[in-house]
Amino acid sequence: MGITKILIIALLVWVAFKVYSFVKSRSKNSDDNRLNKKIIPCSFCKTHVPLASAIKVKNKYFCSVDHSKNA
Ligand SMILES: [Zn+2]
Repeated sequence: MGITKILIIALLVWVAFKVYSFVKSRSKNSDDNRLNKKIIPCSFCKTHVPLASAIKVKNKYFCSVDHSKNA
C-alpha cells in the first residue's frame, strides 16, 4: 500500500468527519429554530404569537402583559 492510498484514506476520513459535524450542528440549529418559531394563540384574544415572545401566566400563554392580567 503506497503513501498515496494512505493519504486518500486519511482525506476521506477527514471529509466524513467534517460532513458529520456539519450535519450534526445543522440539525441542532434547525431544532432551535423550530422551537423559537413555534406559534401559539393568546388565551385572551386568540392572536397567534411566537412562543419566544409570549407571556406565560398560570400555564396559559398571552400575546402581551395587558392580556396576561386576564389570566
Ligand atoms: Zn392577546
